[in-house]
Amino acid sequence: MKDQDLKNLAAKAKDYLKYETNEVFTWCGGCGNYGIQNALKRALVLEGYGQQDVVFVFDIGCNGNGADKIDGYTIHGLHGRAISLAAGCSIANEKIKVIASGGDGATFSEGVNHLVHAVRNNYKMLFIHHNNENYGLTTGQASALTPCGSKMNGTADQVMIEPINSLDFVLSLKPSFVARSFSGEVDHMTEVFRKALNHDGFSFVEILQSCPTYNRQTPDHWYAERVKDILELKKYDRHDIWQARKIVQDIGDQFYIGVLYEDPGKADFMAMQHYRKGLKTTPVEEVKHHDIEELY
Ligand code: SF4
Repeated sequence: MKDQDLKNLAAKAKDYLKYETNEVFTWCGGCGNYGIQNALKRALVLEGYGQQDVVFVFDIGCNGNGADKIDGYTIHGLHGRAISLAAGCSIANEKIKVIASGGDGATFSEGVNHLVHAVRNNYKMLFIHHNNENYGLTTGQASALTPCGSKMNGTADQVMIEPINSLDFVLSLKPSFVARSFSGEVDHMTEVFRKALNHDGFSFVEILQSCPTYNRQTPDHWYAERVKDILELKKYDRHDIWQARKIVQDIGDQFYIGVLYEDPGKADFMAMQHYRKGLKTTPVEEVKHHDIEELY
């Protein structure tokens, strides 16, 4: 992070902190969620967003309990449905920044249908995928992203099914923005979130998140030894989807992090609604009130 950014952050951090509740965090010690929420708050401060400018939509899961600490517009939705709730917010009021988050269980099992169509429709939102490769809140069951051979609660022997490659799956849907970072690198996450906040469309950001309580195979140091900044690859073109799909195969025990793919030319959902051209109002301002008394 640049010196000027750090000065800006220090100057504004107090402003943002006043929007934090006094609730106690319920996450385990060492959980990657602390770093993720810090990085997000930093990114919002640096990009000039205040309490009134953002709506946070949380899924069910450990990450969802982060809703307790945000004193702003928050929705803590049903399991797997954060993306659909966030899509509604995004369509209803284009003037507000929509930030949704969900874990690997909610996003790639219960809510995978919503993910598919949110990417296709390119709804304007930042979606943060907390990937700790298990259902942490319900005590460590296997998700669709748990590696084969893992011994998890609720699995008789070990996980026998190959996991979904989350980023390759999303890239196959022709997204407009895909990035990845690691929960142990707050500066890196902050920069990735800033870029994602400035993208017009659906920004999919995956965070490789440590879960020291239930995923002991991939602790912080394990990821720290394996993540590499995509900027180290001099010839990498983040506008080339085939390069992105190749890099996310994660062959060779290394994980590239940073903005992996971007298509700034793809129209977002509202821009595709040609009939709205020239309208200055938002759909939520256009809602008509009807007296339904006589229907009773
Ligand atoms: Fe974090 Fe894992 Fe504890 Fe959940 S179970 S709070 S993800 S360390």
